[in-house]
Amino acid sequence: MTQRLVIANWKMNGDLAFVEALASSLPSLANVQTVIAPPAVYALRLAELAQEVFKVGLQDVGRHESGAHTGEVSAAMARDLGASVVLVGHSERRSEHAEDDAAVAAKCEQITAAELMPVICVGETLAERESGKAIDRVRAQVMAQRQCLRNAKEVAIAYEPIWAIGTGKSATATEAVQMHQAIRGALEEVAPLAAPEIRILYGGSVNAENAPELFAYSDIQGVLVGGASLDTEQFAAIIRAAAN
Ligand code: PEP
Repeated sequence: MTQRLVIANWKMNGDLAFVEALASSLPSLANVQTVIAPPAVYALRLAELAQEVFKVGLQDVGRHESGAHTGEVSAAMARDLGASVVLVGHSERRSEHAEDDAAVAAKCEQITAAELMPVICVGETLAERESGKAIDRVRAQVMAQRQCLRNAKEVAIAYEPIWAIGTGKSATATEAVQMHQAIRGALEEVAPLAAPEIRILYGGSVNAENAPELFAYSDIQGVLVGGASLDTEQFAAIIRAAAN
């Protein structure tokens, strides 16, 4: 677990011109692993431009290996495109596409079978936090992925409180650290052999201003960045913060 992981999730944003511009504007720092997850259709071009500066990720893949699943992209196709990382269980997938823990587990299995690295997204709603259920909710989401956590060659968890995604209202570093410690505990219970190597990232309104405070804590081993990853200068500043 030597390198911090900084992942850009473009969601349904960007275009070919942005792909070309971004590729030449990111710093390459020895102790930071940068991953860019564009819309799948841009992954191939991004991978051609990546050199050793960043890896390419996908934001999701289908839960089946192949077949009659119109509109889906399989994990093997993600690998063909040059991706080595796949986000799975993002809260927007869970809410907009009704993906439950079983669907996340099925996708995770496909991702590991294709020898790609899953980044499993977990997080609580505002109502769950306000009613004191946040830790139980997130621990349950982590534990539901026990098979994947045990089987994957490399895997990471992204803790993304749903109330902090795209709202400009980040969790405080203290709130994030408390949850990361709870997640670490869950990992040690369900995947004791793999746990020490599993990085836990924070996501939710990370920007160039709050990144240095988050990276002051060793419990935060990376970040997943949505909105701020669409601003190349700001995203480069987050990568530099991760290196310090
Ligand atoms: C995300 O969607 O993964 C995310 C963290 O978004 P934002 O940084 O915009 O809150």
